Amino acid sequence: MHNSGPPYDGHLAGEYDVTAHEVTCRQFVELVTDYFEGALQPRTMSQVEEHLVLCDWCVNYIEQMQATIASLRELREQRSPEPPDSVLAALRARTAAEP
Ligand SMILES: [Zn+2]
Repeated sequence: MHNSGPPYDGHLAGEYDVTAHEVTCRQFVELVTDYFEGALQPRTMSQVEEHLVLCDWCVNYIEQMQATIASLRELREQRSPEPPDSVLAALRARTAAEP
């Protein structure tokens, strides 16, 4: 169950020469909402984009987030107060066909 976590989480800082401007996956997950809302500072945004070039895990994470957001938006748009006419027509036809 530990395989689903971010591959880079800051613990690698001692092993690699991680410079202060790099964004870790953990930081990225915290920033992702602002990223989607376009609320990041331009500097932070470019750091995030740099990280995405290097990190498949976070690209995957973004794709999942985008899919979730898109399906939520779709649900909201499809919600209507009344059933569509085609459903009502089908119900009426069915009722009429019964003995
Ligand atoms: Zn990452």
